[in-house]
Amino acid sequence: MIHLTSMGVLAVRKDVLQRLERLAFALFLLALAGSLLLVWKGNLDARVSRMIDPYPPFTPIPGLEGRKVGLIAGHTGSDSGAVCPDGLREVDVNHAIAVRLAERLRQAGLQVDVLGEFDDRLPGYRADALLSIHADSCIDATGFKVARASFSIIPDADDRLVACLYRMYGETTGLPRHQSSITHDMTQYHAFRVIDPRTPAAIIETGFLGGDRRLLTKEQDRVVYGLARGIICFLKGEQP
Ligand SMILES: [Zn+2]
Repeated sequence: MIHLTSMGVLAVRKDVLQRLERLAFALFLLALAGSLLLVWKGNLDARVSRMIDPYPPFTPIPGLEGRKVGLIAGHTGSDSGAVCPDGLREVDVNHAIAVRLAERLRQAGLQVDVLGEFDDRLPGYRADALLSIHADSCIDATGFKVARASFSIIPDADDRLVACLYRMYGETTGLPRHQSSITHDMTQYHAFRVIDPRTPAAIIETGFLGGDRRLLTKEQDRVVYGLARGIICFLKGEQP
């Protein structure tokens, strides 16, 4: 049996208080370490998600909300375009790119139409920009090219759209320019003749189904990101 004197009681109380203090301090340290860990983990998560998705979704861009963009998915509703020996069809590549590009541009707040090659909506089509998306043949070549109507009534605007696409698409994909192969099919493209002539318009060959097949089929995120940046560059009035 233990008989505590009043001094003894005080000593025990002091001891308990000291223990409580140490406990509180330990809890404080634990909470601090926990929150530091959470912050670090948050940064890590952001870094990891950037590693997994180098092309994160867009958010609405002030000033661009509601602006209208038309995308022609080359050959859609008409024919297959280029067909490679193993059956890869240009029309399928173009269509997949156009649909994903539309999705991305809508994230930025734009109003987007995905149009067929000879879409009923094309005659008199009025928008802030129109882009026709095609891919080149199955030969073992690499590069992309962009053109506008040779008979454009808004050559400055069209040239800026072409320049924005050259700059941003080239920068994002790393593809070289293949300007020497621009044909009349591009500069006299049928849709340029029927749309409202005040609609800035361009046509792009995104790469070769031969030499650039990997990019065009397996890295469409990159293709789409480059095209979206090009269109946004133009709509924001940037001089590339
Ligand atoms: Zn084509």
